[in-house]
Amino acid sequence: MSTHDENCIFCKITRGEIPGAKVFENEHVLAFLDISQVTKGHTLVIPKVHKKDIHELTPEIARNLFEVVPQIANAIKETYSPIGLNILNNNGEKAGQSVFHYHMHIIPRYGEGDGFG
Ligand code: 5GP
Ligand code: ZN
Repeated sequence: MSTHDENCIFCKITRGEIPGAKVFENEHVLAFLDISQVTKGHTLVIPKVHKKDIHELTPEIARNLFEVVPQIANAIKETYSPIGLNILNNNGEKAGQSVFHYHMHIIPRYGEGDGFG
């Protein structure tokens, strides 16, 4: 079974074929800065295996992913000193998904006028 998709931009980042500003990496998960920073430190967290959306995640993939989210959030908090964080995930085009490799957005918040929401 193939774990990646040749045409997927996030698989290319995972495989080092295109650059990504890495925030965290382990065997199963990669976190990197979003190319279009909604706020400073806007980070994407992805499983290394190519799964299109939440509906394709197995319990094991979900466990591996969610297990490290608090430590990624802590690292972002430490680096950028936001006053809060939003974590969100779009599934399906109509829900705003534009890259079809599952990803979670971590969006640091800095108060009114920070550009998000
Ligand atoms: P979605 O709209 O699917 O929830 O989020 C996709 C995100 O991927 C967008 O915020 C977009 O800026 C980001 N993105 C798209 N292409 C690239 C890329 O090549 N590199 C990085 N770092 N982020 C990307
Ligand atoms: Zn992919």
